[in-house]
Amino acid sequence: MASQQQVKQYIAYWFLVGKTVYINNGQQVRKPQSVIQQDQFSSEFEACWQEILSPESGHCYLQGTDQTVEELLSPDWDVEPCARCEMPIPLKNSGVKTGACPCVDVENWPNDELPKPHLPVNNQQHLGGISNRLQGEDNLDEIRNRLDGIEKHSPDFPKTSEVYYGNRK
Ligand SMILES: [Zn+2]
Repeated sequence: MASQQQVKQYIAYWFLVGKTVYINNGQQVRKPQSVIQQDQFSSEFEACWQEILSPESGHCYLQGTDQTVEELLSPDWDVEPCARCEMPIPLKNSGVKTGACPCVDVENWPNDELPKPHLPVNNQQHLGGISNRLQGEDNLDEIRNRLDGIEKHSPDFPKTSEVYYGNRK
């Protein structure tokens, strides 16, 4: 299941490549002029994303894909990097091969000479799932290392306060 943040980034990435989003079951098209403003999403993009999420907008989907945003947020779907261009694409959880990446009809794509689209750093930090889990494991390793160090240097396992003052000396 793709998180709302993942789907939002998926839409943002493809806007940056020039794709549009269809809303109201394909009757209307949305394409913000700007996606990023300094180090965050533009207010225009945020407003567009809220419109996409709104139940009043009916089925919304990225140009060149069959999966609606609603489907991507259901347990049946994930958003994973495309094998060809590394852009986020819909992937069915069952492992069944789905339609082509939206990149198939983008000219000169993937283009190694151009910088890949990237999203604001601030929003990357909120990526759920894998990156959070990795950070958690990093922290655990750090804690384990510290505990190892403490056990090596003191015969009696110190209380937390003693560890704190010990490190400060
Ligand atoms: Zn691709």
